[in-house]
Amino acid sequence: MINRGDFYSDEEWKRFLAFSRGLQTPCMVVSLNRVKNNYVQLRDSFPYASIYYAVKANPHHDILALLAELGAHFDIASRYELDEVLALDVSPDRISYGNTIKKARDIAYFYEKGVRMFATDSREDLKNIVANAPASRIYVRILIESATTADWPLSRKFGCHPDMAYDLLVMARGSGLTPYGISFHVGSQQRDIGQWNDAIARAKYLFSSLEEEEGIRLTMINMGGGFPAPYLTPANVLSDYASEIHRYLTDDFGDEVPHIVLEPGRSLVGNAGILVSEVVLISRKNNTALNRWVYLDAGKFNGLIETLDESIKYPIVTDKDIAGGKEAEVILAGPTCDSVDILYENYKYRLPADLKIGDRIYFLSAGAYTSTYASVGFNGFPPLQTFIMK
Ligand SMILES: *Cc1c(COP(=O)(O)O)cnc(C)c1O
Repeated sequence: MINRGDFYSDEEWKRFLAFSRGLQTPCMVVSLNRVKNNYVQLRDSFPYASIYYAVKANPHHDILALLAELGAHFDIASRYELDEVLALDVSPDRISYGNTIKKARDIAYFYEKGVRMFATDSREDLKNIVANAPASRIYVRILIESATTADWPLSRKFGCHPDMAYDLLVMARGSGLTPYGISFHVGSQQRDIGQWNDAIARAKYLFSSLEEEEGIRLTMINMGGGFPAPYLTPANVLSDYASEIHRYLTDDFGDEVPHIVLEPGRSLVGNAGILVSEVVLISRKNNTALNRWVYLDAGKFNGLIETLDESIKYPIVTDKDIAGGKEAEVILAGPTCDSVDILYENYKYRLPADLKIGDRIYFLSAGAYTSTYASVGFNGFPPLQTFIMK
């Protein structure tokens, strides 16, 4: 049994139960208050940084509106996200086009809307930026290989070797762009704070060599996301991340720490959402099987895709959890006709022995990378609906 008290006070839990009782499952309940607290805590932990919310983590309108009001900047990956954020009257100078994979005509669209800050990690993309976003600020994403300590790595696909980053920034200047800085992402849900140390050291190396050899003075490091949300696998608290990272920065840059950008996604919205599901079926695969299969109305195709390889282990609670109550190991699976739709089979959750069909199962810390990762009508099941608890 998970100790629900580690995640929710009795009072907050009661409020959530009252709010969610009448809702049809599966659904997502998001607490805006928690998003706000997460934002304020991050801002206070990194007072010298600009916070660009990685919209993909949870692009719900009310979350974007709240963050816009709190003064956040936005890391945007597509013209559709851009339209959503601009519709909130966010000025384009609070927006970064952080996706390194983009069409030339989308770069032109961002430029036309006033965005002047672009990420890149390749020659062809840089050429498109030169042609479609003249004189913009450009930052280059470097490759981070060592992401095995991240529960949801973002390596391999993004970033380039520092040698190439160097060349791209020289080329950017030669093409009339403003070489702005270096970015990296150490992997989402990164539990090894030391990963920032290596990445900052690489950035420092590029800052120094570009200035010495080319007279290019970079002014910004974009340290990406990677800050944790609370799941079953323990992670350090945010203040540990903040103090360590600050130390790495001052060790490398002394008094001349560049402008710092953070792009949090998971850490701002993860613990703000609860995915409410219901038990559809409980069965055993043979008469003497020890484990019960518990099939839920939420699975990989309607919100829980980050259970792939059992990467993210959500804290799961039920209404029948009682301290000292009888429990048994279960295999958890979703409702669709695809055998990929098994949530946890190797890792055995322990759920109450008297769990019945129709009981509710709550996935805590499910506010990030869930609702928009849901399929559109696979087996006819609709995408996950979100309800905002003010
Ligand atoms: C997804 C993403 C983020 C957010 O990462 P989290 O680990 O969720 O904080 C930040 N930056 C970029 C470029 C991303 O793609």
